[in-house]
Amino acid sequence: MNVAVVLFTSDLRLHDNPVLRSALRDADRVVPLFVRDDAVHRAGFDAPNRLAFLADCLADLDAGLRKRGGRLIVRAGAVAKEVRRLVEETGAGAVHMAAGVSGYAARREEQLRTALADSGCELRIHDAVVTALAPGRVVPAGKDHFAVFTPYFRRWEAAGVRGTLTAPRTLRLPDGELSSDPLPARNDVKEVSPALADGGEGAGRKLVTSWLDGDMGDYADGHDDLAGDATSRLSPHLHFGTVSAAELATRAQEKGGPGGEAFVRQLAWRDFHHQVLAARHDASWSDYRPRRDRWRSDEDEITAWKTGRTGYPVVDAAMRQLAHEGWMHNRGRLLAASFLTKTLYVDWRVGARHFLELLVDGDIANNQLNWQWVAGTGTDTRPNRVLNPVAQAKRYDPRGDYVRRWVPELAGVEGAAVHEPWKVKERLDYPEPVVDLGEARARFERARGLD
Ligand SMILES: Cc1cc2nc3c(=O)[nH]c(=O)nc-3n(C[C@H](O)[C@H](O)[C@H](O)COP(=O)(O)OP(=O)(O)OC[C@H]3O[C@@H](n4cnc5c(N)ncnc54)[C@H](O)[C@@H]3O)c2cc1C
Repeated sequence: MNVAVVLFTSDLRLHDNPVLRSALRDADRVVPLFVRDDAVHRAGFDAPNRLAFLADCLADLDAGLRKRGGRLIVRAGAVAKEVRRLVEETGAGAVHMAAGVSGYAARREEQLRTALADSGCELRIHDAVVTALAPGRVVPAGKDHFAVFTPYFRRWEAAGVRGTLTAPRTLRLPDGELSSDPLPARNDVKEVSPALADGGEGAGRKLVTSWLDGDMGDYADGHDDLAGDATSRLSPHLHFGTVSAAELATRAQEKGGPGGEAFVRQLAWRDFHHQVLAARHDASWSDYRPRRDRWRSDEDEITAWKTGRTGYPVVDAAMRQLAHEGWMHNRGRLLAASFLTKTLYVDWRVGARHFLELLVDGDIANNQLNWQWVAGTGTDTRPNRVLNPVAQAKRYDPRGDYVRRWVPELAGVEGAAVHEPWKVKERLDYPEPVVDLGEARARFERARGLD
């Protein structure tokens, strides 16, 4: 009996999963394993929204495995220790897992190598599972990663995405009993956002099909329209790997059209940030390009930002969407992040940490490097641009519908006037702006030595 362990991490799917496929090719018995990692819990990374979504993903994965003759084994503890224990219980000759890009993933891999060193069991790491293109697959001459998106994207397109793999039809566990912890239940998770999306590969694949056959056609024109909400909302599925980035890119490329092209470009942005983090683990919490910032820290302003009470309606709407759904529109993320880092001139780490507490797609590569991009400490080639929340709101929410949806205090204000409540004659139960935009901009320019 030839046994392999499949350690599921950010690839909680059966379709297009090179990890699972390789294990099934090499071994006649496969043990699907998910470890609820102590280290993730200690780092506070198992925020309620992601934990609830994860519970859906694991339940769906287990159901899919059972249909094929297997099941998911869940254990809790230190990953390396739990894997070693399962290898000893089953006599597995190989452990297969997806390559990660973070410092945490690198440490986990190292610990697994050490734990398995004298076990006779091989650790096999698979590329292009979490991303469409493996980090490092394309690099500029003499460098280990691209620091600018456009040249990266050219090479990304030219390299092409690997072929899509089908889901296995059957799977056999080793003979004998294997113990498993119960699957975590979504309903047991406290403090989940009221309108959190459903997780799981089934939900993800349904969303992909309806997206590719429907709204993607309007994506090129509509992706920035805050009220239109015309983006795919696939980010949590990509984060947990219930949807394969490679398969999604291939299917979107096949559909083509301006919508398909614009969408594939965004998937390449995801790969771009992943390849930056893979080469620069420290970029998760340290400035990628330090700008000698001496950030401000006004607790009242930070609280106003977190609770959606800055007095700038579009920023407040975005922050309230985040609290309610555990997700925020990309234009909202840009505006909320620019407001915190440039207008209030608060450290991007404060905002990134808050986003990680709530975002269901909260992801070290995408969150931290987007925050750095907006703060001007990352890969943006125009690091000192400041987004004006009023001008941006008029452009991306021209009728004010997004603001009225999330800020009920302003529901009675008609049209674009909702973006400047301080000009409205009636008394509104809504905060005054926390800062003057002109003064804030001048402060930022002074701080960055641009005045
Ligand atoms: C401050 C800030 C923080 C962010 N934090 C995260 C995060 O934690 N997790 C996350 O997945 N995305 C993050 N993003 C990127 C982006 O906002 C989301 O991926 C997107 O809004 C998700 O919605 P969607 O799936 O409908 O996106 P779509 O517009 O449908 O795009 C499709 C996919 O492309 C990828 N993508 C799109 N835009 C970006 C981008 N700018 N950078 C990287 N990948 C992108 C995502 O995987 C997304 O699901 C952040 C952006 C900003 C400005």
